[in-house]
Amino acid sequence: MIIVMKSHASNREISFVVNQIEAYGYRVHLSQGTERTIIGVVGDDRPLENHNFELLSGVEKVVRILQPFKLASRDFHPEDTTFEVRGVPIGGTKLAIMAGPCAVESRSQLIETAWAVKEAGAGILRGGAFKPRSSPYSFQGLGEDGLEMLAEAREETGLPIITEVMAPEAVATVGKYTDIFQIGARNMQNYPLLLAVGRTQIPVFVKRGMSSTMQELLMSAEYVLAGGNRNVMVCERGIRTFEPATRNTLDINAVPLLKQWTHLPVFADPSHGTGKWDLVAPTARACIAAGADGLIIEVHPHPENAMSDGAQSLKPERFAELVCDLRRLAPVVGRTL
Ligand code: PEP
Ligand code: MN
Repeated sequence: MIIVMKSHASNREISFVVNQIEAYGYRVHLSQGTERTIIGVVGDDRPLENHNFELLSGVEKVVRILQPFKLASRDFHPEDTTFEVRGVPIGGTKLAIMAGPCAVESRSQLIETAWAVKEAGAGILRGGAFKPRSSPYSFQGLGEDGLEMLAEAREETGLPIITEVMAPEAVATVGKYTDIFQIGARNMQNYPLLLAVGRTQIPVFVKRGMSSTMQELLMSAEYVLAGGNRNVMVCERGIRTFEPATRNTLDINAVPLLKQWTHLPVFADPSHGTGKWDLVAPTARACIAAGADGLIIEVHPHPENAMSDGAQSLKPERFAELVCDLRRLAPVVGRTL
């Protein structure tokens, strides 16, 4: 449940309500908006159902949250969550564009791509050092060497970096380098991993599992939030359907629906969502038109030689064209880029 305080409730009234809830053994999440304070009760609050919090002074109303995600829900936190990653705004009016190779393959490949995406207008560099591959015989990533290259690329270009972490025991190592933890589709329900990144204060980018519902995606975000990390983003990256013509089916519905359900920044990944480079730009534009706060896009200087996901990687010049399109589109949907 959430307890919505009156717009002029005093700090004493707020503390009184918080103390009452804590006395029952619950944790509280305070959301102090510009208008009013909302007190969220964390955990299974059914035993509190008969308590008349409505009668306490300063309380406007008590709202039962029917959806199982609470900290992630808009009821709890009506305003959009915004934060910055090394000065790059996430979740506000300005669109956030993350771009780079699927995998870090070499220092030169990464640096070349990093400069290219920066010049085209990307704000954040992506690149996998630990790759979740369907086959154990496929390139698994450069591991910590790849993380070092990402940190060097950040040093050279000034772009913050996002990279995937696959296991709870890798959180400390990846956390030494990265600005954002990427939780991949295959690990969306790796609960020990979600708990581990939730104990850090490094922003977390949770990708939708390929067969997961939007509710399950937000429950995964809830794990991170419940650990105390509030800088969480969610990403639609395509789901498995009966359609074999594309790698996945990019679920555009998810973008506006997630925006309704959650205050967290909503991203889309048209690269994995389609699996085909020539579908990336049109679907990227569609996701921004549908209200996404940003995109994550695979870019490779030589897609034909890429060690993973070449078929869906844009060449830098095509990525630059896409960013130009997005710059024209952004104001139509009340955004800047
Ligand atoms: C990736 O971003 O390269 C990736 C592996 O994505 P996903 O987890 O969505 O498949
Ligand atoms: Mn990839």
